[in-house]
Amino acid sequence: MASSTPPAADTIFGRILRGEIPCDQVHADDLCLAFRDVNPQAPVHVLVIPREPLVNLNAAGEEHEALLGHLLLVAARVARQEGLKGWRTVINNGAEAGQTVFHLHVHVIGGRPLHWPPG
Ligand code: AMP
Repeated sequence: MASSTPPAADTIFGRILRGEIPCDQVHADDLCLAFRDVNPQAPVHVLVIPREPLVNLNAAGEEHEALLGHLLLVAARVARQEGLKGWRTVINNGAEAGQTVFHLHVHVIGGRPLHWPPG
């Protein structure tokens, strides 16, 4: 199996969702949780994750359409909450793209100038 599509497995984010390890939470609702990245790449670096253990966008289907929209709306809400004007969302899909935790997550990054193209 390609490394970009590993089998669904429990991850550290599953443990956070179950309250087994702590997180610095900034938002929670029935569908998702948002918390600060433990290794921030900018002054604000938040991860928005679905409660459903979806591996990544590649594993998403039509049935996830509303959930994916919700994650983006929560990302924008978190950015506003954090007082960001310009900010970036990143979703790494697959190990080749830098995905290290195989539970879908939207990075919300801001609070410093962000350059393009990304590394
Ligand atoms: P990615 O490389 O896109 O899979 O992003 C995974 C992110 O999860 C990285 O930015 C890590 O710093 C972050 N991370 C890993 N473990 C934790 C944790 N326990 N709490 C918060 N963030 C974490």
